[in-house]
Amino acid sequence: MEWTTHLLSGVAAGFAVTGGDWRGAAVGGVAGVVSDLDEHKSRFGKIFFPISFIINKTVGHRTLTHSLLFVAVVGALLSPIFDPWVVSSACAGILAHIAGDMLTGKVKLFYPFQTSVGLSVSRREFKMIDKVAAIVLIGFIVYECVPLLRNVF
Ligand SMILES: [Zn+2]
Repeated sequence: MEWTTHLLSGVAAGFAVTGGDWRGAAVGGVAGVVSDLDEHKSRFGKIFFPISFIINKTVGHRTLTHSLLFVAVVGALLSPIFDPWVVSSACAGILAHIAGDMLTGKVKLFYPFQTSVGLSVSRREFKMIDKVAAIVLIGFIVYECVPLLRNVF
């Protein structure tokens, strides 16, 4: 998926796992784009260019950072430092990223095992799925914002 859709899915996931906490949505949104650290040509990968290039050339795209192992490692690294809601939001954001990429292609979900999991789609289908997902996610986020706006006005 495109990075904006990953961002939206991370926001929605972080929001959902924290029971509607917008701080969780913020953490989830950031975590939702982290997995593409393995693609130096991605928006997020360009920011961390030397690191993303090394990861891409070492393990490839949609492998380590798109796996359950990565979710477990991030959770284990964050747990001693942050509150549980931060850890669950971050893990949810990463899982949302992985799920999104499985809708539009294959990932090595069980890395280091090389089994690929996900749908095989054409570029046209990729774009259509990405747009539909983005619309649904924006709808969810706007719907969840309505009560907040009522409190403001
Ligand atoms: Zn990805």
